[in-house]
Amino acid sequence: MGLYEGIKDAIGIAQKADNVELYKQLIDLSSQALDMQTEIAKLREENSELQKSKETEQRFVRHEQPYLTLQGDNQKVCYCAVCWGKDEKMIQMDRINWDKGQIKLYCSVCENHCIECEQ
Ligand SMILES: [Zn+2]
Repeated sequence: MGLYEGIKDAIGIAQKADNVELYKQLIDLSSQALDMQTEIAKLREENSELQKSKETEQRFVRHEQPYLTLQGDNQKVCYCAVCWGKDEKMIQMDRINWDKGQIKLYCSVCENHCIECEQ
């Protein structure tokens, strides 16, 4: 029997026994159980996000300049290291042709800019 069926049955028994105090306590407990279930759902979601973030971070290749690439990414997309450090957001940086064949990377969110080094 699930928690809610159990509480519902107990409320029914309390009603039949005409025990108002027990009935009130059971209603209060069922409200607390609902709050706990909401909290558990929230924690599960947070945990899943942390797990995903940890998995992403393990694939990071860090560079001397403040940008990141991902291991195994054939396209070698460059992400902003500042935005990751601040909000754990993967912001793809713009690639701008720069002096002497160099590529300048630019983050349109935080305006972090740098020169792409080794690839
Ligand atoms: Zn940024």
